[in-house]
Amino acid sequence: MANQTENKKTESIEKNVKDIQHYINGQFVDASSNEVFDNYNPFTNEKINAVASGDNEEINQAVSAARKAFQGKWGNLKLKDRLAYIYKIADLIDEYIDEIAPLESYDTGLPISQTKKMVARAAHNFRFYAEMVSSRLVGDAYQVDDEFLNYTIHKPVGIAGLITPWNAPFMLETWKIAPALATGNTVVLKPAEWSPLTANRLAEIIDKAGLPDGVFNVVHGYGEKVGASLVAHPDVELISFTGETTTGSEIMKNGADSLKQFSMELGGKSPIIVFDDADVDRALDACTWGIFSFNGERCTANSRLYIHENIADSFIERLKERVQNIVVGDPMKEDTQVGPLIHTDHYNNVKSYIDKAKEEGCDVYSGNVPEEMNRGNLIAPTILLNANNKMSIVQEEIFGPVIAAMTFKDEEEVIELANDIRYGLAGYVWTKDMQRGHRVAQKVDSGMLWINAQNVRDLRTPFGGSKHSGIGREGGHYAFEFYTEVQIIHVALGDHHIPQLGK
Ligand code: NAD
Repeated sequence: MANQTENKKTESIEKNVKDIQHYINGQFVDASSNEVFDNYNPFTNEKINAVASGDNEEINQAVSAARKAFQGKWGNLKLKDRLAYIYKIADLIDEYIDEIAPLESYDTGLPISQTKKMVARAAHNFRFYAEMVSSRLVGDAYQVDDEFLNYTIHKPVGIAGLITPWNAPFMLETWKIAPALATGNTVVLKPAEWSPLTANRLAEIIDKAGLPDGVFNVVHGYGEKVGASLVAHPDVELISFTGETTTGSEIMKNGADSLKQFSMELGGKSPIIVFDDADVDRALDACTWGIFSFNGERCTANSRLYIHENIADSFIERLKERVQNIVVGDPMKEDTQVGPLIHTDHYNNVKSYIDKAKEEGCDVYSGNVPEEMNRGNLIAPTILLNANNKMSIVQEEIFGPVIAAMTFKDEEEVIELANDIRYGLAGYVWTKDMQRGHRVAQKVDSGMLWINAQNVRDLRTPFGGSKHSGIGREGGHYAFEFYTEVQIIHVALGDHHIPQLGK
């Protein structure tokens, strides 16, 4: 029965999925060059549809529409009316959740049980930022005796260029769009070329919510072409980027001439440190979920396991059992836990890291991919045993269901090992000794750290990485620093001294 429902869902998507157009100035339009590229289903590697491939022309049109909307209707809305649109988008996402989640799984290979939660979070992103803006977007007042009252206001910056990756497309897009729009900016979104479907579903939803034309625009296409054009456009005031570290650095170079503001959410290779006094059952659950959820294509994945030598053997044995039991397969099925990787190029990349691990001296332990599913980009959950920090498979982000396992003797050693890397996105520490927990947490170089927890987000808190994992913070009121311009207004209350040159 369950299988029939899932097959029907897939058939219905196959039947209904349209080719992907840009969404510019409230209209769905083809590329002016008529160029397209193909989009593939990662479970079958069959073509899903064709995607409009944009270039300078579409970026110019989208930016000019966004500029007009910012200077016109959107920019002049009362806050209450602007936020009503944001709530409306959230309601519509909730209404269509059963349609968006399968679309996301079909396009990306992420298991449906996980995309459902991601889509629910996307709706929450809009509601959360509507609430944040109405309650926390406030200025400060500075009284200077009876001479001055100085105060700050937050103004939208203008046109926000948002560039997003394919690993959790819908959720990550809304994580940027919600604060950008709620604070009063207009948006040009450049989604990842491997996962275009739900970006257009969002455009349809925003269209249905009735936002004025030009407030939200989507331009599809290759990063080096359309992404680069958005970054270089002189009228785009800020770029919020999530993606690979090397792409982030390229974008910063390209945006330097137009003095863009940047928020950079980049790659990670995060450690999970398990001490021998930890709640091992919970640490094992968190470790397994943290690396194998989202098919391992997760920026905050705990891809480096440092396990205390006293408990290493038993912990690894139990991790191996989990790896054998994880259900690998069709992302459209409710019981699937790991689905196919996004694209054959990425699949080959992850495979080549597993081969490299063998060359570098690891023992590779993997689960199974069902024989009949070998058309897709499925990679079984994999543990790289006997790894060490000198290996490239420990230093580089693999971005698949692959964990490198290492042991340590004491606190000092594990802090050094955890920090011996260019990344600094997230970290996880497991111990019942809370003094040690805090000590280690504060010494690990990472933007975010969890003690005795999996990656549970509190949207009010700052999200972002240190070192090569990012620049700036989004989340909570931290996003206001990026999406708004603070203006200070000085008001003289009395007759303060003014030098009278030449009088
Ligand atoms: P990517 O860097 O290849 O692409 C991201 C986006 O940038 C895509 O839309 C792409 O088209 C665009 N792009 C590529 N070249 C560009 C250029 N020269 N100018 C402008 N845009 C360009 O990343 P990906 O492979 O899509 O995503 C995976 C990466 O994202 C991983 O490294 C992962 O860790 C990272 N990520 C980080 C976070 C975070 O919050 N820190 C979250 C999710 C993913």
